[in-house]
Amino acid sequence: AFCDRIEAVDDKVKAFLHYDRDAALDQARAIDKKRQSGASVGRLAGLPIAVKDILCAKGMPTTCASKMLETFVPPYDAHVIGRLREEDAVFLGRVNMDEFAMGSSTENSAVASTRNPWNTDCVPGGSSGGSAAAVAACEAPISLGTDTGGSIRQPASYCGIVGLKPTYGRVSRYGLIAFASSLDQIGPMARTVDDAALLLECIAGHDRHDATSANEPVPEYTKEITAPIKGLKVGIVPDHFGEGLDPEVESAVRASLDVLKDQGAELVEIDLPHKKYGIAAYYLVATAEASSNLARYDGVHYGFRAENFDGLIDMYCKTRGQGFGDEVKRRIMLGTFALSAGYRDAYYIKALQVRRLIKNDFDAAFATVDVICAPTAPTPAFKIGEKTDDPLSMYLSDIYTVSTNLAGICGLNVPCGFSKAGLPIGLQIQSPPFGETVAMRVGRAYQ
Ligand code: GLN
Repeated sequence: AFCDRIEAVDDKVKAFLHYDRDAALDQARAIDKKRQSGASVGRLAGLPIAVKDILCAKGMPTTCASKMLETFVPPYDAHVIGRLREEDAVFLGRVNMDEFAMGSSTENSAVASTRNPWNTDCVPGGSSGGSAAAVAACEAPISLGTDTGGSIRQPASYCGIVGLKPTYGRVSRYGLIAFASSLDQIGPMARTVDDAALLLECIAGHDRHDATSANEPVPEYTKEITAPIKGLKVGIVPDHFGEGLDPEVESAVRASLDVLKDQGAELVEIDLPHKKYGIAAYYLVATAEASSNLARYDGVHYGFRAENFDGLIDMYCKTRGQGFGDEVKRRIMLGTFALSAGYRDAYYIKALQVRRLIKNDFDAAFATVDVICAPTAPTPAFKIGEKTDDPLSMYLSDIYTVSTNLAGICGLNVPCGFSKAGLPIGLQIQSPPFGETVAMRVGRAYQ
């Protein structure tokens, strides 16, 4: 059924970069056989999944929507891909994204712009726009995305689905092609919180291949999130409802807070005084790390190499000049500048200090509240092309999401309403490190 749906609508949605009906059906038949033989099957047995094209999967193209990795087929599985195989999920294919996960609209893909299924003139958000659109268009029941500064939550919000950025270290990053290693996390995208909980339960946990993966037990999320929310304290930051917030988003988010109150949660006003520096700190830390991580694409190790060149340095320059898109190059230049001698202390080190202040704000807030609720994005989905010539306005669509990654905490998007034009609006629920359960308990109040 999902294959039929992809074949019927993906011409319009353009979520998939790589789709193989026969391979998907072969996997499904093999799982049927396993079940019929009486062998035990995994928790995702037969469940089709769409995977963001940034997670290495043995034998499947993994391009990061970049010309640079156009021909790359990884010789190994990312940890999460291995977990999905063990749980007997069925891989439908690879879905679109902003090149190397840099962007907020999926327009930075070197291949195509994915469309928002609710209105195909609009973007699906980004960078996990393909993952969000595939689920919203019923081309897949669940998908995997990655979130460095909002790339799971913001597209989930624009497409009206559930998306969870887990705590840093909750899910192994082994085999996730790095953008900004201290911020990147893999997470589930789904139509309900229950589905996201099941997928998280299957992919979370310690992995010896990722030194930053946490050795914390994985709760039985699917059971624990059913607890009622009565008595929970929900933090609200008055500044979140200030300048730049679309009035329709504001009223949907405010109305959604009443739903929590009706179920017995208590709303508490809190302050996050350094939040306003989030975007500035994020775009320094993320670009600095990206400039270092992307140094590996040199025309020697992976995929693309320019055809005509004159010596080694010229080969590097031409390969990187032709292989990377404009946004990736912009970020490599910004990050290289922020790390360079003479500027490092003023920009990169300063951003790290601000990052610590932001983290301290959250620690103080979570001493008094269980979760913090806010809009996920300042506006509903915008029109394709509307922000492509104005990177700064594109960066501002991450204003509510980036501090979650800077602080390493957990953030969940749940749909909470629609604009008059019929575009989804999302509520963000932030919770303390390893507080996925409480975030999902609150998110479930809307199910
Ligand atoms: N939109 C943000 C950026 O462009 C976040 C991207 C992400 O989370 N991968 O960096």
